[in-house]
Amino acid sequence: MKIPVYVCPRCGWTTVIRWEHCMECRTEMLKRQSSPLGEILSFTTLNFPPEGFETPLSFVLVRLKRGMIVTRAESDSWLKIGGKVELIRKGNLFFAVPSSGWPRFFKKIFG
Ligand SMILES: [Zn+2]
Repeated sequence: MKIPVYVCPRCGWTTVIRWEHCMECRTEMLKRQSSPLGEILSFTTLNFPPEGFETPLSFVLVRLKRGMIVTRAESDSWLKIGGKVELIRKGNLFFAVPSSGWPRFFKKIFG
């Protein structure tokens, strides 16, 4: 599975949020895809989430090969900064789960 990302062909600004034009230079964005593998830059856990959400409710900031994404984590027991994750899709949402199968490219960058 690939993650849709939007890349500015002029300045390289990248986002997972769909923007028609670059926030930096107003150039029209191109839709590209990123690997679902990434690294945890930060995370937080809500022990008192809004009604209707499971407890605890964890969010992670993940750096992908292209861009960054804030997404939910499957659980919080394994979360650590620098941890390797894989994004999986459940309905319209992405969830971060621990990853073990990292290709050589990522081991070189993050390993
Ligand atoms: Zn740009």
